[in-house]
Amino acid sequence: MSLLRKDPFGPAWVLISPERGLQPSDVGRDEALAVGSSAGSADGPPLTPGHERGWPTEIVALRPTGAPAGGPDWSARVLPMPGSPFVARPFAPTADGVLVSAPAVGAQELVVEHRDPSMRLETFERDHLVDVLRLYRDRVAHHAARPEVRHVQVSRNVGRAAGAVYDHPHGQVLALPVPNRWVEEEREAAAGHRVVTGRCLFCDVLDHELVVRERVVTANDAFVAFTPFAAKAPFETWLMPRDHQSAFQELPGNRLPELADLLRTVVEALNVALDHPPYNLVLHTVPEAGSGAFHWHVELLPRVTRHAGFDWSIGAYVNPIPPEVAARFLREAIASVAAGVAYGSAR
Ligand SMILES: [Zn+2]
Ligand SMILES: [Zn+2]
Repeated sequence: MSLLRKDPFGPAWVLISPERGLQPSDVGRDEALAVGSSAGSADGPPLTPGHERGWPTEIVALRPTGAPAGGPDWSARVLPMPGSPFVARPFAPTADGVLVSAPAVGAQELVVEHRDPSMRLETFERDHLVDVLRLYRDRVAHHAARPEVRHVQVSRNVGRAAGAVYDHPHGQVLALPVPNRWVEEEREAAAGHRVVTGRCLFCDVLDHELVVRERVVTANDAFVAFTPFAAKAPFETWLMPRDHQSAFQELPGNRLPELADLLRTVVEALNVALDHPPYNLVLHTVPEAGSGAFHWHVELLPRVTRHAGFDWSIGAYVNPIPPEVAARFLREAIASVAAGVAYGSAR
């Protein structure tokens, strides 16, 4: 049984997951450490239509033709994550002195985003990408409505170097009874700002970025993509709604096409500027909708350099590419895509 252990020195919970069968000598092999990788990985059946029986029973699927559940006539579908260390049961932490732990309770779902394994998010048909984003929003809303859930996230790992277990286009939804430390730190900063100013910290940052412009990558009527002022890694890019929305499930359906368009533009720009980098995409949101101090956003982190990361000795991230430079590169890449010219020929 996997355990969630609370770090007594900070907001983090750590998943201790011994049943995945890793030996100490496996540590360091990135692909061995991806959560959910212990079954159905590259050795399992394909995720393509016709192999449904090789996978756990689907939770929900998009079937445009209205075909019955379980069959091969789907355009996207959601499964329990094979090999997930999380189990469905009441969350019951226990304390041993000052040390708190609990069985690893949670829900982890695999979202198979397309029938065709060769497709990529940026090559999906536009309507299909909108449908997939709606599917994610609905799964997030489903989990966020459960009273025991403290954190819901969507994540996409693309490329083995980013921890992807499957080459087939996919993502995952994770719902946990414990907070995510990064979201928690942002939430606390935003709550403090709200107490002092009465305003949303994220909205204030976005307003500032739209005045300064140097870190704005691209924008449309509903969303802005920008490289954050204190980007933790080269080409880290955030996508944020212009309207204040605490939680992702508050996003109206009529704004999904604009999110799809901005996401496609940013991923295409990264592909052009960095030659199809592996990347991690994660949704930062909170379970409770309404007028909270949080403001949901998507963080996109390309895995492009070994010369960046967390320096334990100084307790800070080291980023060799200023976010202003990264934003300019991405704007040039977008312009080159729009002009249909080879990137770099005009530089
Ligand atoms: Zn806001
Ligand atoms: Zn965030």
